[in-house]
Amino acid sequence: MPAMAAVPLIDVRPFAAREIDPQVHLLSTPQDYYGPAVGNVSIIEQSDGYVLVDSGLSAGNGRTIVNYVKARSAKPVKAVVITHWHNDHPQGVSAIRQAWPKVRIIATAATKAGMLGPEVDELVGLEPGPQYVEKVQKLNAEQQATLDKLIADPATTPDRRERARKAKLDFAAFAATYSDTYIVPPAETFDKELLIDDPVAPVKVMFLGRANTAGDAVVWLPRQKIVMSGDIVVWPTPFGFFSYPGEWVQTLGKLKALGYSILIPGHGEPQTDTVYIDQLSGSIEDIRAQVGPLAKAGMPLDEVGRKVDFSRYAAVFGKTERMKTLFKTYWTDPMTENAWKEAKGMPIVQGEGEVTVAKQSDKKR
Ligand SMILES: [Zn+2]
Repeated sequence: MPAMAAVPLIDVRPFAAREIDPQVHLLSTPQDYYGPAVGNVSIIEQSDGYVLVDSGLSAGNGRTIVNYVKARSAKPVKAVVITHWHNDHPQGVSAIRQAWPKVRIIATAATKAGMLGPEVDELVGLEPGPQYVEKVQKLNAEQQATLDKLIADPATTPDRRERARKAKLDFAAFAATYSDTYIVPPAETFDKELLIDDPVAPVKVMFLGRANTAGDAVVWLPRQKIVMSGDIVVWPTPFGFFSYPGEWVQTLGKLKALGYSILIPGHGEPQTDTVYIDQLSGSIEDIRAQVGPLAKAGMPLDEVGRKVDFSRYAAVFGKTERMKTLFKTYWTDPMTENAWKEAKGMPIVQGEGEVTVAKQSDKKR
């Protein structure tokens, strides 16, 4: 007799679903997904309901999460923890709250501030609106045209052309399910730690220090020894925009000291050892070591950028064909700027520059 499927067989695109532990399921975009970036969503089962870690990029993602949870059991979602403010993590909450109006929405105060800040992209507001859907549709039309050109170009390699074809479908699906996406500010904030207790799967929500953003929350399951890191850890290529290099290394040290058996990153594959976070930490140390003295000696940022050599990270963080060149754009370039500012004692301001769906989508092309 076949065993009962633990993972409901429903359409969860753009995610794929899997069981990490009897209490923890993960919705994650597969490696051959080329639409706008969508963060990992963890679904933790407690006796009286579910705790979610993050919610995706759109209400469409949120509706998919709702369908997945409802296919598993009649238990409600009781809480959503938002790890940080970047749009691909909090923007499914509107649909989740519509399904379960009493859901607790939890984040650090800095994450709440980021979600309400002026730098949140122009594709979303504090309530749904046809103007946002129109903007997303316009963005999608532009993406489709760019990708069509790439496909038609005889110089495009066959594998690149195949990725472009896939990206067209992924972008179209994103645009088609964007309606009712809006910012739901977290009603509950915490400073250091917050416990969502349960006899089987107690959940500790923690702030271990600044890292990828000013308010990264980490979710720790002490019984299962599973940690959800948010974008403090992103696999296979980390994101380094407006981050805090020195504090990031310390925060990674605290994350490692938890003694996890599984780390679920903000994007990409779960890690069962510390190899990847050691590489991440080592890379940040190296960037600080190369950039710091030059910055302190008064060298301008662009000159520093030409002087440093981070080419060896292509092998570490450029595991996919696409990322062999893009790791520089997402990781070593922004981290060089962060380390330069840090060495000069300049403030690193969240959202200075832009994190928009358009920009995020560049990451995935
Ligand atoms: Zn993210």
